[in-house]
Amino acid sequence: MPEAFIHVGLPSRVILGAGALDQIPLEASGLKVLLIATKSARDSADVVQLALGDDFAGRIDEVRQHVPKEKADAARAKAIEVGATGIVAIGGGSAIGLAKAIALTAGLPIIAVPTTYSGSEMTPVWGQTEDGNKKTGTDLNVLPKTVIYDPVLSRGLPLKVTAASVANALAHCVEATWTDKADPITEVTAVEAARALREGLLQVLENPTDLDARSNLLYGASLAGSALASAGTGLHHKLCHLLGGAYNLPHAETHAAVLPQVTRVKAPEVPRAKARLEAVLETTDLATGLFDLFSTAGVPTSLRELGLTESQAKEAAERFQASTSIDVREILNRAWAGER
Ligand code: NAD
Repeated sequence: MPEAFIHVGLPSRVILGAGALDQIPLEASGLKVLLIATKSARDSADVVQLALGDDFAGRIDEVRQHVPKEKADAARAKAIEVGATGIVAIGGGSAIGLAKAIALTAGLPIIAVPTTYSGSEMTPVWGQTEDGNKKTGTDLNVLPKTVIYDPVLSRGLPLKVTAASVANALAHCVEATWTDKADPITEVTAVEAARALREGLLQVLENPTDLDARSNLLYGASLAGSALASAGTGLHHKLCHLLGGAYNLPHAETHAAVLPQVTRVKAPEVPRAKARLEAVLETTDLATGLFDLFSTAGVPTSLRELGLTESQAKEAAERFQASTSIDVREILNRAWAGER
């Protein structure tokens, strides 16, 4: 028998399959579409633009990490200028993040076509960066109404980017087990996500263009994102947002460096989830298992490797320490040095 709980699921329509990109015109019918595409998805965006025909309204081809406010403002102005009534975003969390910035103020529906494993497409969480501060918030208007996962689009995602993005998705799974809003449904979702992500990552390291492996990763990312969407974020994500906003660190890689260290401290608070995650990740210690998985996949496991200086790591710890009784100084010291 599970303990008593309240679970809030979120409405989204998920389509996964090779060739699912072809579904966009049907999903977008009746909308005047602003197309947002990350640089590496331009060819796919060209195909979608043609297929949309008269439903195509305009296009943005430049996206940046952490959604700088000036880019968000420009994108909102563009949406108004072209008379958009909907958005199709093809790319990683940055492209989807820009779409969310528009949806936040204009209320336009988003069709998300993720090409990384950030999981952003499954969450109502938005982010925007101004003067080195990354603000995040939750608003159901930014939750994509349809998510189209086509593994063909992520076949060319470089291994390094793939592995770091999987680390980002695993961070959603792990943190979704210990937040205040975690429940048995988010836990089981997170555990299945972690299983698929590990399997997909090992498959992709063997054969980067394998469509089954890429589907496994998209499936895992989708579950990871929905677990996070229901369970909310905690210490780990808050630390990564602080680091990303203040020092412009790469988002996914920052997760990889910080996650094992936060897990070391937080996972013992949730012994059942810890044991379940250890089983699917085939490790006897969750924090060390994550560290080793990231190392095997070639993801940096220290903030030092990402260019953060030791004094910046200390400064970040001081900024954060006041808001928690957990020893953030130790977490960030270890994350900076990459201690196993
Ligand atoms: P990203 O979107 O910047 O993509 C990472 C890199 O992969 C980029 O260089 C991009 O050009 C490249 N790329 C993407 N698709 C590709 C493809 N198919 N082939 C080749 N290269 C490709 O980064 P990300 O890690 O996906 O997302 C990070 C952003 O998303 C951050 O701003 C983060 O805050 C946000 N995020 C938000 C949530 C949320 O719930 N709101 C969740 C996770 C991440």
